[in-house]
Amino acid sequence: MSEIIYTKGRESQLVNQYNEIKAMIDNECSVRDVLLLAVSKLKPASDIKILYDHGVRQFGENYVQELLEKSELLPKDIKWHFIGGLQTNKCKDLAKIPNIYCVETIDSLKKAQKLNEARAKFQPDAPVILCNIQINTSHEGQKSGLLNEDEIFEVVKYFLSDEVKHIKLNGLMTIGSWNTSHEENAGENKDFATLANWKQKIESKFAINLKLSMGMSADYKQAIKQGSSEVRIGTDIFGTRPPKNEARII
Ligand SMILES: *Cc1c(COP(=O)(O)O)cnc(C)c1O
Repeated sequence: MSEIIYTKGRESQLVNQYNEIKAMIDNECSVRDVLLLAVSKLKPASDIKILYDHGVRQFGENYVQELLEKSELLPKDIKWHFIGGLQTNKCKDLAKIPNIYCVETIDSLKKAQKLNEARAKFQPDAPVILCNIQINTSHEGQKSGLLNEDEIFEVVKYFLSDEVKHIKLNGLMTIGSWNTSHEENAGENKDFATLANWKQKIESKFAINLKLSMGMSADYKQAIKQGSSEVRIGTDIFGTRPPKNEARII
């Protein structure tokens, strides 16, 4: 593995930004732990290495190919979260990554099945992959996620069945509507309320405990107020992202 180098200037910038958000989160919520997931999509491996050297171990990526390359390059004790739109035929590529930790965008039974099968086939001895079911709480057509109760229950049931040994249901995930997150004096966010509602419903029906992955740079404080267990922050830590065709890993 060749060494990944970075400048002192970038290091102090990223560490300061990360610490600031972390302090804000701890300030917002003292009664429970809220995971700060550093969303590193379209940012170079050197940025990830800076936060890794600062002690951060969990990072979120959106593109399978980019995640494959970064996971090869970077330390193997990183716990990768996949938070991008998931295609059924990419489930096997994710399952092959030994240290993929959590796939947050399971939005069909088929994808859960594929992921379990591929993990069993390609990485039978690696840790189980935690999974979040993505729910489309804003009912926006372009957003992924399940909407329908029967389908949601069907996927939960699959996770709880005996045949599933290589993936495990961890929680629910949503992306709040952009408009709702950017309203002034927004108050309660209805998408987050909807997700919290699903959590209650599923927990009581199936007697399980679920986590909530909700909140991004624009709306994480509100998400924490409404019960988030994990906020996914990119821009506020790493700065604005380059367009995809200009992004570089090294
Ligand atoms: C990009 C992304 C984030 C981070 O968004 P920021 O606004 O940059 O904090 C969080 N969640 C998902 C699903 C994303 O795609």
